[in-house]
Amino acid sequence: MDLFNVMAKEGHEQLIVSTDSESGLNAIISIHSTLLGPALGGCRFWSYKTFEEAATDALRLSKAMTYKAAISGLNLGGGKAVICAGPQDKTPALLRAFGRSVDSLAGLYVTAQDVGMTLSDLETIREVTRYAAGIPEEKGGSGDPSSMTARGVVHGMRCCLKESFGSDSFRDRTVAVQGLGKVGRQLVGLLHREGARLIVSDLDASRVKAVVAEVKAETLPPTRIHTAACDIFAPCAMGGILNSATISKLRCRIVAGAANNPLANWADANLLQRRRILYAPDYVINAGGLINIACETEGYQKEKAEERVAGIADNLSRVFARAKEEKITPLEAANRLAEERLAKARAGRSGG
Ligand code: NAD
Repeated sequence: MDLFNVMAKEGHEQLIVSTDSESGLNAIISIHSTLLGPALGGCRFWSYKTFEEAATDALRLSKAMTYKAAISGLNLGGGKAVICAGPQDKTPALLRAFGRSVDSLAGLYVTAQDVGMTLSDLETIREVTRYAAGIPEEKGGSGDPSSMTARGVVHGMRCCLKESFGSDSFRDRTVAVQGLGKVGRQLVGLLHREGARLIVSDLDASRVKAVVAEVKAETLPPTRIHTAACDIFAPCAMGGILNSATISKLRCRIVAGAANNPLANWADANLLQRRRILYAPDYVINAGGLINIACETEGYQKEKAEERVAGIADNLSRVFARAKEEKITPLEAANRLAEERLAKARAGRSGG
């Protein structure tokens, strides 16, 4: 992997590799941009097979955070961290070692929760650094961002339904949800209340069982959930699941979910467009958690945060309008909107 070239091409500022032999920490912090503010982004705890796989994930995820903050109107940059380890390796000592690594960056990167991390993990990290956001509500923070992410996805889905069917109602609409973790499970609950029909799937059978005990939902195995006949396919698990092979098997009108980077490549948005499937760009629709965390900086108020998260529907409308106007994919339109804001900030910084 030619890291220098990859980073230069994608505009990354820094990649920090951090190890601690005592606790067994192997982590990578990727800072894509600090143009709009400190690089805020969750930390993913995952058993990557190789360094390259982990670095690639961190680089891609951090770039998406830059775009997410930019298009959401937040004064934040884009960063992301990955801890390369299995769930059995997660110890307080390892989390603290990671926290010290974050602290050494003196606020350039602010960490938060992501896949494989919990609120209590974040509290452990917070013992050694103040640069950890999304702290518990009882401690003056905004709490677990997942519920706001799920709410934001519902607002975004409504905008997609309106765009595709002329009505934003979930009644008689079917949503297939891939992944029933922190976001997916709450999303299913919200959609159930909205009257949607549900098809669900998770690698972890116990999660499927728990959801089916709570709401009426059909189930499909993880290998087939993307083939479900539905109105909306909602990826809420890992990234890279939509590629030429899987896109050809989709039987939905809309792809709208919480997962970061569900497209294997940004160019795959063209394949969705060709199949007349409306794609809600991931970093626009899944920004609820980030918007919620950003509200921590000004003294957290839940109602205010909810109002801002509802704005995701307007952001998506802007994206769809721009896509139509310029005859481009919604992803391309979102990229242009985000890049325009970044260019303005760059010009302001250089006095140009
Ligand atoms: P999580 O770890 O709590 O849940 C992920 C779930 O997906 C797990 O239950 C896992 O078993 C399941 N899964 C993994 N691969 C699967 C597959 N192939 N098929 C079916 N299920 C599979 O993570 P989360 O916090 O719910 O996040 C889900 C996605 O949303 C991630 O891509 C994350 O980056 C993104 N996201 C999360 C937030 C947030 O607030 N938590 C915010 C923005 C984006």
